[in-house]
Amino acid sequence: MRKNIVAGNWKMNKTLQEGVTLAKDLNEALKGKTLNCDVIIGTPFIHLASVAGVVDKNKIGVAAQNCADKVSGAYTGEVSAAMVASTGATYVILGHSERRAYYHETPEILKEKVRLALDNGLTPIFCVGEVLEERESGNHFEVVKGQIRASLFDLSSEDFAKIVLAYEPVWAIGTGKTATADQAQEMHAFIRKTLVEKYGKEIADNTSILYGGSANASNAKELFSNPDVDGGLIGGASLGVEKFLPIIEAF
Ligand code: 13P
Repeated sequence: MRKNIVAGNWKMNKTLQEGVTLAKDLNEALKGKTLNCDVIIGTPFIHLASVAGVVDKNKIGVAAQNCADKVSGAYTGEVSAAMVASTGATYVILGHSERRAYYHETPEILKEKVRLALDNGLTPIFCVGEVLEERESGNHFEVVKGQIRASLFDLSSEDFAKIVLAYEPVWAIGTGKTATADQAQEMHAFIRKTLVEKYGKEIADNTSILYGGSANASNAKELFSNPDVDGGLIGGASLGVEKFLPIIEAF
């Protein structure tokens, strides 16, 4: 059966020293605890190797927040999936709405990134979600389905089975305006139904679908209690152990 996952996305926060300290503190806080979910931290590129070196890999997975859509070569400033994998990171967040909106990542570019991540043994945490106008006009289901279809539905069943999905309504990210537990469940169930149609019930039932968008210690339990919400992708509330730990323990 699918895994419960609580993943932090630090975004562009923390110096190297601050990030390593946070990772060490989280590692310490989880020591000796029996967890009902996998824990992942998504750090900036420069932190990956150091963070991977200080956490217990059986307890905490490390994720990059992006990778290049090219294999290697003259692409100044880019970081390839192979480079990410060489740090000890095992996940990569792809398709985050901030990258789609601010860095013009198209469904085609994301498809390449997913391919390269998989080729290098990384698990993509693939983000989808609608903007407010799309929800208000009732198009949110079609938008999310389109994002999944455009970047992931050329994958073989074997490859799709390696994907983790994250539903992050853009209007809920960093706004303090969380989707209600019902809104999250409704979309997650719709996503799972979409996966059943394409890949069949077994793969759909085994795919973890995380919720992201102003999730925190106060709302995590209610969100995670929904049958199709398999965890969270946490931004702001992953930047301190005191905020992140209660979310992990909400499972
Ligand atoms: P916040 O939890 O800060 O709203 O961010 C969510 C997010 O974008 C995680 O990827």
